[in-house]
Amino acid sequence: MRAIPAQLETSEIGHSLMDPFGRAITYLRVSVTDRCDFRCVYCMSEDMAFLPKRDLLTLEELDRICSAFVAKGVRKLRITGGEPLVRRDIMTLFGSLSRHLDSGALDELTVTTNGSQLARHAKDLAACGVRRINVSLDTLDPDKFRAITRWGDLAKVMQGLDAAQGAGLQVKINAVALKGVNEDELETLLEWAHGRGMDLTLIEVMPLGEIDGQRIDQFLPLSMVRARLAARYTLQDLDDRTGGPARYARVKETGGRLGFITPMTHNFCESCNRVRVTCTGQLFMCLGQEDAADMRAPVRASESNELLDRAIVDAIARKPKGHDFIIDRRHSRPALSRHMSVTGG
Ligand code: SAM
Ligand code: SF4
Repeated sequence: MRAIPAQLETSEIGHSLMDPFGRAITYLRVSVTDRCDFRCVYCMSEDMAFLPKRDLLTLEELDRICSAFVAKGVRKLRITGGEPLVRRDIMTLFGSLSRHLDSGALDELTVTTNGSQLARHAKDLAACGVRRINVSLDTLDPDKFRAITRWGDLAKVMQGLDAAQGAGLQVKINAVALKGVNEDELETLLEWAHGRGMDLTLIEVMPLGEIDGQRIDQFLPLSMVRARLAARYTLQDLDDRTGGPARYARVKETGGRLGFITPMTHNFCESCNRVRVTCTGQLFMCLGQEDAADMRAPVRASESNELLDRAIVDAIARKPKGHDFIIDRRHSRPALSRHMSVTGG
């Protein structure tokens, strides 16, 4: 294939980053740790090996990378992991990034969490300008919760949710739809979430990383779930596009929003507006591809941002058109060896 110089492929119009397919990159997801206090069965194996601490970006380095993207037109930052709220002093990062909300450079600073540490951090998050958060919760049954997360305690997550709503944070619940595990409980989850004023988004299992067990056993197509829910509820399609794989409907009976994230059965790549940085500074231009660009070396090479800025522009020039995940009986190996906890989903 012909190599085109990066500067011809990526355009920086004003402050905005544009990829070779004309998609403006306005959303950065940042994984701040690969560690977690849970071991969800679809996400990790029980005996995960985590990265040595020295490989991780420091909080200052994470701030520099996020801020470089904000300077280039990123309007939304999502902090994720692993479990972001188990990283030591993580509120320092939220606190420093909040300056971009104050200046108007950033529209939204948000977080995806398993909720285990929310009770102690909810107020501080709100004070840092966080308005909406995503909390992952697949079941309301304490025993099932323990079985899915292996190490989690549902009561702690419930306290976290109370604290979050008490602090004025808008909460969206993310639930992975798992065949034979929570598929009979999705209506209950929906009624519960909407009853508390929280949106619910259902997620299909993605083939990321080696886990103990077979993906095909977990995979439940959301097309089936949707059809089942539509038999009981009136689902009114909404036009709320996020540039990601979520599609939303209003549930007429509850008044709440229901999202479907269907990377396996839907193609959402044309409108993709996002890239992801791992906790070691690898920039993934696509969740479904192996290609990554190193941001840690340019950050560590000098105190000025020249090398980092160049690395960002060059990387965006390589953002691929799309991905092709496959789960079927012939492809029971993960499509990618990387776990979701590396890129943060
Ligand atoms: N620990 C935080 C949490 O659980 O919300 C943030 C990181 S977690 C990797 C982000 C999201 O990815 C969670 O909603 C989780 O359920 C989802 N997830 C993890 N592994 C997945 C997989 N293989 N397929 C689909 N979703 C997955
Ligand atoms: Fe941890 Fe989130 Fe993965 Fe569960 S999904 S193991 S909470 S990173």
